[in-house]
Amino acid sequence: MSNLQQITVLGATGSVGLSTLDVIARHPERYQVFALTGFSRLTELLALCVRHKPQFAVVPTTEIARTLQADLQAIGLDTRVLAGEGGLCEVSAHPQVDTVLAAIVGAAGLRPTLAAVEAGKKVLLANKEALVMSGALFMQAVRHSGSVLLPIDSEHNAIFQCLPGHYANGLAGVGVRRILLTASGGPFRETPLSDLAGVSPEQACAHPNWSMGRKISVDSASMMNKGLELIEACWLFDARPEQIEVVIHPQSVIHSMVDYVDGSVLAQLGNPDMRTPIAHALAWPERIDSGVAPLDLFTVARLDFHAPDELRFPCLRLARQAAETGDSAPAMLNAVNEVAVAAFLDRRIRYPEIASMIDEVLNREPVVSMDELDVVFAVDAKARTLAEQWLGRNGR
Ligand code: NAD
Ligand code: MG
Repeated sequence: MSNLQQITVLGATGSVGLSTLDVIARHPERYQVFALTGFSRLTELLALCVRHKPQFAVVPTTEIARTLQADLQAIGLDTRVLAGEGGLCEVSAHPQVDTVLAAIVGAAGLRPTLAAVEAGKKVLLANKEALVMSGALFMQAVRHSGSVLLPIDSEHNAIFQCLPGHYANGLAGVGVRRILLTASGGPFRETPLSDLAGVSPEQACAHPNWSMGRKISVDSASMMNKGLELIEACWLFDARPEQIEVVIHPQSVIHSMVDYVDGSVLAQLGNPDMRTPIAHALAWPERIDSGVAPLDLFTVARLDFHAPDELRFPCLRLARQAAETGDSAPAMLNAVNEVAVAAFLDRRIRYPEIASMIDEVLNREPVVSMDELDVVFAVDAKARTLAEQWLGRNGR
């Protein structure tokens, strides 16, 4: 048996997954890839298997699994290929695994991430949607299993770094006044409001500072990403929505801040590169090289801050409302947003209709309490049906 940390990367073919594999490959003396999962881009998954030689790979269907298995065998690799959600949960909870990197996008990540939590793994969380959907049950499972949950969403990782180690008993107890959650404002921060109806998916995905998957890129443009992050922060740090203020900071150099009652404000700074929070969480409480260039403050030169404009970013208001309502409201918001973003990317709706759709569907549904996972999935399914019906009436 080796002392190498065995790591499962859920969503290995995505933007966060690839950044994680980049950091892991820099430290072969510490980390070994146990399993890689991918939903599409299977040629890339095959190449990743060749590079990292995992024990397992997971793909969406048994048919694809057979093809990949044959391809792997043909080149002499003994990686076993599993299929579907069962396969994802198996490689998340496998007894040989130490750490699970949860970087599947959207609600699809919930069950495998929870499987890792329930098995008591160290879980590095990128998949914010999982926490937004089922925060109470998720955090309950973390406490129950003793799993170590570390945020790699850059803002939450920054907040974690700016908090003292013993914040778990409440923010007030460690003198925190509020959390300042920074946002870049995305590609449409200064676009005339009247032009927003005409923006394309390509424009929405062209983020000024970060290179990310398409769904989170659209969420960043609409600032739904910040809304989801507000909800994520409430669960991770046991905060109330009103303790979290969103600050637009276009340079994306400060990744978030914590404001203390004595007037101190602690910030974490760095180049906008996910390898920093990933390396931080992988090695925590130690520090390792991430491959990220040192921050050059003379090039950055200035840091700007603005309050977000609710007229420009209605999704942020909708998310804050859902956070305040609680119960099933965040899961509904998340599900309708996923359908809306996919419809926008497919050019079935215009960009401003993402917010209209969420507003109309969300405000028509009563909230229910979410004390079982079945309820979470029922709420998610219901919201998707309502969103599809909305699309049937209003989409192209
Ligand atoms: P991405 O689209 O680049 O990658 C998503 C990954 O999930 C891919 O490996 C894909 O194959 C897999 N996947 C997609 N649908 C799936 C399904 N139905 N079942 C199983 N696997 C599926 O996305 P990303 O930008 O890497 O983001 C991943 C997660 O991390 C998201 O929740 C996002 O909000 C979060 N996040 C991303 C960044 C970033 O910089 N990209 C930063 C912070 C948080
Ligand atoms: Mg983020």
